[in-house]
Amino acid sequence: MLHPVICLDGPAASGKSTVARLVAHDLGYVYVDTGAMYRAFTFLTLEAGHDPASRTRLKQLLEKVDFHAEIQNGEITLREGTRDLAPHTRLPEVNAAVSIVSALPELREYLVNLQRKLRLSAPLVMEGRDIGTVVCSDSPFKYFIDACPTVRAERRRKQGEKDNLAARDKIDSSRAAAPLLRAADAVLLDSGENDARALADRIVREVRARQTSAPTVP
Ligand code: C5P
Repeated sequence: MLHPVICLDGPAASGKSTVARLVAHDLGYVYVDTGAMYRAFTFLTLEAGHDPASRTRLKQLLEKVDFHAEIQNGEITLREGTRDLAPHTRLPEVNAAVSIVSALPELREYLVNLQRKLRLSAPLVMEGRDIGTVVCSDSPFKYFIDACPTVRAERRRKQGEKDNLAARDKIDSSRAAAPLLRAADAVLLDSGENDARALADRIVREVRARQTSAPTVP
């Protein structure tokens, strides 16, 4: 059985992770950060000494890597073999290379399959760039979270992370494979004008309302 999924897409530092975590907590769903998966692969690519833009190298890595994304005790874990990859996903060099690595179609296909399989395990709040457009395009719950570039840059500065948001957004929006795009049926929310709590409350209200009004399957 496929569990429901709430899709949250948006550009870098749009505040979607904070909103997604709150929604997942309130509904008792599992929070899935798909950016962390692309980041984990970027880390593995850099660690192996590969050029992040080398399609050949990345394909070789995909063939041999022992990568696991699993839901355990209500949380997603990302591992290579038994090694937890989470501590390596926010490094400055990963920030700098992740959009280049993420543009490679073979990696996207690999991760999209894996992300779709997670719906077999639990109801999800999944955030990323292509969740509403590609990964779970059949979901009735789609939101696109955005804020003006100044608000987003200030957010990253406060987090103390070195991250060229404009460069990442440009590559993410212009790539051929699954570019960052608002799905036609996604609700647009502004995280500069509303705080994360207010946005999460709205999403939770809408999801609950739709679930109670949905006809029961005989
Ligand atoms: O969400 P986060 O900023 O951590 O994502 C890091 C990068 O991973 C993005 O800039 C994008 O290149 C890539 N990504 C993607 N598709 C997703 C999630 C993230 O291409 N669904």
